[in-house]
Amino acid sequence: MRYIRGFRDGGAAAALAQLIGAEVDEAREYHLMEFCGGHTHAIFRYGVEDWLPKNVRLVHGPGCPVCVLAMPRLNAAVDLAMRPQVTLVSYGDMVRVPASRRRSLLKARARGADVRMVYSALETLDIAAGHPEREIVFFAIGFETTTPATAHLILEAHRRGVRNLSVYCNHVVTPAAIQSILEAPRGPEWQQVRIDGFIGPSHVSAVIGSAPYEAFAQSYRKPVVIAGFEPLDVMQAVYMLIQQINGGRACVENQFTRGVTREGNRKAQALVAEVLELRPSFEWRGLGVVNESAMRIRTMYAQYDAEKRFEMPETPVRENAACQCPSIIRGLKKPTDCTIFGTVCTPRSPIGSCMVSAEGVCAAYYKYRRVQSSLPLAAERREMPV
Ligand code: SF4
Repeated sequence: MRYIRGFRDGGAAAALAQLIGAEVDEAREYHLMEFCGGHTHAIFRYGVEDWLPKNVRLVHGPGCPVCVLAMPRLNAAVDLAMRPQVTLVSYGDMVRVPASRRRSLLKARARGADVRMVYSALETLDIAAGHPEREIVFFAIGFETTTPATAHLILEAHRRGVRNLSVYCNHVVTPAAIQSILEAPRGPEWQQVRIDGFIGPSHVSAVIGSAPYEAFAQSYRKPVVIAGFEPLDVMQAVYMLIQQINGGRACVENQFTRGVTREGNRKAQALVAEVLELRPSFEWRGLGVVNESAMRIRTMYAQYDAEKRFEMPETPVRENAACQCPSIIRGLKKPTDCTIFGTVCTPRSPIGSCMVSAEGVCAAYYKYRRVQSSLPLAAERREMPV
């Protein structure tokens, strides 16, 4: 905790804010997207925006694994959970995400489905061992941070000869999502998203390294700074991005040197490559269909692939018309643009995925009450709250 406190120090934040203020060109605007919901929560929790000049705007990105899962795949998981012989195992946030027709995994459990929450993918092995008469399905979601754990689960099930376990694989890929945001406009709405640089996720990059961002940083002339999740990490990343933009540079820099290297975690990458491969395309909530943006289980491990083991039709569905999650995920809108934010839609009764997850933008807005402007300006505080 003492180590963490150094990255939350109010005096250091004030000094960094002065450096940023001195670097910023008042004649221009800086639109910086923080890709990850972990950054979004740090920004709101510690009032990072209040330390920044008004012409530095933070745009919230799609880096919340629960938020970006497309409705047809969530519906397929709910349908699977309702089968009498199936036990569906999932990380906690996922069970509360609203599916279509007012369903969710939590509601399915209330109706008798066997839905269980775990903190670790490997817990699924114990559940499978304890219930050999049932089909145990792990509902795997997340970015590259959690993908190695799923690969490990499959390899371990294979090694132990477990026959009643499979994985519904929904792991997604960060660089492909960033690239899809940067690609040519696909309609009038897309032209409204202005991004001058990216704050890249540190936990994902600890696995994949910083190298995978280099191609699009160069191709699209957009700087990337990989940053940790403490407020001073984010502020330093903003400073580094502004320096790059002012200097006309567009490269990948690593603020989180205490955890990220250019190569990443080779062992974890090898684990994933052994079991999983890129899908040709995958549908994201908010981003639509993105090529080579998600993982599937290799044919060699097909016996552990729930999509091969069960009939799992994905039926196209319309999003709740009131919910602005798709536009929020693309950085086009803020939660306060949603007419039911904080009234009909709250963390206790979420209408969209962005209000459910600990990394969702709407949940961050709601939790830290930015909309009410009731917090004292961070610039007036001597210390950031720990
Ligand atoms: S407030 Fe609720 S309904 Fe509105 S965009 Fe956010 S999650 Fe969707």
